[in-house]
Amino acid sequence: MSIEKYRVNPKTFSLKDIKTNDRSERSGGRESDAEELSRLSKEIFQLQDVLHAQTRHSILMIIQGMDASGKDGTVRHVFSGSDPFGIRVVSFKVPTREELLHDFLWRSHIHAPKAGELVIFNRSHYEDVLIVKVHGLIDEAECRRRYNQIRDYERILTENGTTIIKCFLHISKEEQKIRLQERLNDPTKTWKFNLQDLKERELWKDYMEAYERALINTSTDYAPWYVVPSDSRTNRNLLISRILLTALRGLKLNYPPVPSEYKNITIKD
Ligand code: ATP
Ligand code: MG
Repeated sequence: MSIEKYRVNPKTFSLKDIKTNDRSERSGGRESDAEELSRLSKEIFQLQDVLHAQTRHSILMIIQGMDASGKDGTVRHVFSGSDPFGIRVVSFKVPTREELLHDFLWRSHIHAPKAGELVIFNRSHYEDVLIVKVHGLIDEAECRRRYNQIRDYERILTENGTTIIKCFLHISKEEQKIRLQERLNDPTKTWKFNLQDLKERELWKDYMEAYERALINTSTDYAPWYVVPSDSRTNRNLLISRILLTALRGLKLNYPPVPSEYKNITIKD
């Protein structure tokens, strides 16, 4: 199955062409989807083990999306079968005072993966051209400068051995309504609800415009964006697993060679 159709081509991309309720990654049956997800998750686990052992390449997976688009759920499902060693999740919140005293990429760079690591950014440096732009904290000229700086920054990471995968979890405004209401109705989920979410929701159109522009201006050959139709959680999990696996397989990973002096060693009683 090809993931290419989800990849953002800056020359032709328009967000409204993408259906949030596209379910074409699913095979139809619940059970067969669950089996497929577990198969994908096992292969991710196997390859991530080699990535970790080899300490040569690294992967940075950036997940962006509106509130309740499923960022946390994605991490939970896609990495459910994985070994916590070598995997790290970083969540980007409102910047601290210290972070604000630095350039906007500083806090991203210090969390970027080291060789052998698979790091997932739950939100990222993209907030600095999304929420920050929507709320008018930067002007148009600064926003353009930041697109350029992001492209340069991501090029530096890729030239130094990091594979970058960027996923925008695309849900409809109606789906967000359902999910936010669920958070309010279920006391085990209410902690995720924030009154500010409703204010951001009112700015939906502005956010979609900011996302579209960010995706167009920062989807590159070396760090492409994928738009993941996410109204269906299963469709989302299947697609993200496939995107990640494609990247892992592409690295042609190998366990480090066994040193010749180890070959004749037998451990004594
Ligand atoms: P969910 O999607 O499940 O609601 P979340 O990612 O929104 O989770 P929260 O702790 O609710 O997690 O919110 C983090 C908030 O921090 C978001 O509203 C996000 O936009 C904001 N944020 C992140 N980075 C920045 C930034 N650089 N400038 C301003 N706000 C930021
Ligand atoms: Mg939130």
